[in-house]
Amino acid sequence: MRTPPTVVVAGAGVVGLATAALLATGRCADRLRVVVLDAKPVPRWRADELDPRVYALSRASQQLLGQVGVWPRVTQSRASAYRRMRVFEGADAYAPSALDFDSADIGEPDLGHIVEDTLLRTVLADALGAASQAQLVVGAQIESIDVQATEVVVSLTEGGTMRATALLAADGTDSTVRRLLDLPVARHPYAQTAIVTHVQSSKPHGGTAWQRFLPGGPLALLPLVDGSSSIVWSLPTPEAERLLAESDGQFLAQLTAASAGVIGDLTACSRRVGFPLQALHALRYTAPRVALLGDAAHTVHPLAGQGMNLGLLDAASIAAVIEDALLAGEDIGDLKVLRRYERERKGDNLAMLAAFDGLNRLFRLPEWASPLRGLGLRAVEAAHPVKRLLMHKALGLQAGHKH
Ligand SMILES: Cc1cc2nc3c(=O)[nH]c(=O)nc-3n(C[C@H](O)[C@H](O)[C@H](O)COP(=O)(O)OP(=O)(O)OC[C@H]3O[C@@H](n4cnc5c(N)ncnc54)[C@H](O)[C@@H]3O)c2cc1C
Repeated sequence: MRTPPTVVVAGAGVVGLATAALLATGRCADRLRVVVLDAKPVPRWRADELDPRVYALSRASQQLLGQVGVWPRVTQSRASAYRRMRVFEGADAYAPSALDFDSADIGEPDLGHIVEDTLLRTVLADALGAASQAQLVVGAQIESIDVQATEVVVSLTEGGTMRATALLAADGTDSTVRRLLDLPVARHPYAQTAIVTHVQSSKPHGGTAWQRFLPGGPLALLPLVDGSSSIVWSLPTPEAERLLAESDGQFLAQLTAASAGVIGDLTACSRRVGFPLQALHALRYTAPRVALLGDAAHTVHPLAGQGMNLGLLDAASIAAVIEDALLAGEDIGDLKVLRRYERERKGDNLAMLAAFDGLNRLFRLPEWASPLRGLGLRAVEAAHPVKRLLMHKALGLQAGHKH
């Protein structure tokens, strides 16, 4: 019997696992072999421990997880729906310039769900484990890549090789595949670090996600189902390093002040983790037999919480392109095929990257420029169609399109 075409996915982060799960459970599951490689084991979710890394998932991401059959397990385990979002600058969260997004305004039950990284990876890895033509190989680091006429040969540091018809790189912002193939990127370090932690507060969060633009960078407070809130606080790196080294009490006092008390006093926090921030965009997403996905192709500022959502849209796009090509009898590693994915995703990703970068810059302007910032938010609030569009973008839906 002829061996079926093989897709090797580098990286068992959420984007890599989701891509593999889509292919291994989709229209062409029985015509394809899917292998996911990761240097590290996939961490298992634990009910008694909140992962500090959470994502605000859009409705489109939720639909994708539904398509591979894992969304019910996500909600049964732990997912926090958020219904409102308030974006403000200055000390008053209710100033006229503040932006208010309410799911009721667009007839939706919520604006999205906040879900832990380990939970997403656990349910996706289990879905792959249940698929007959899929395999997850951990502890496998890629050493070299040899692109040949009909296949790509991946050599592993631990010895051994893997042969793929197409290699999909979902190995994150420092992608080894991208480096080994010398695929060029545009990179902009922000000189900012995001502090991530969970906090308890004296006032309930009421299912609202808050975002305050501060001169040093944005602060997001995301409501969690157990009543706590997840914090993503972007700051100039030296300031973030100082805050990471301080005691919980000192840190919480400064965080309460920075949050303008929107959920009262912040009384306790979990382990704090710092993520250095950069913007990155690969000039090309594809090469013969290779495509870049997720953060390997584009890394955006976390201020709008869209990095994972964009990566999952990449996953849906490449899976559909590969399935269509298989059904049409085409070679799935052919550059002509892979470029269909690039054409579908690159423009959208670039537009989002530029928008988040622009917002980050606008709010980091010096104090004299403050009226400009208020004007920016007010312009969005006043222009209802623009706000509606933004809400639909945040949900990952087409404007005017409801589910
Ligand atoms: C502070 C912060 C907050 C964020 N909040 C949000 C949010 O609320 N919502 C949202 O949508 N996005 C958010 N993001 C963005 C989001 O984290 C990323 O966009 C997302 O994690 C990218 O997923 P990925 O699977 O592409 O890459 P990663 O999550 O980086 O996964 C890459 C995987 O590849 C593996 N790997 C790396 N090198 C190799 C190799 N050589 N061989 C094999 N395997 C390898 C790694 O072990 C890892 O498992 C946030 C980002 C930051 C920094």
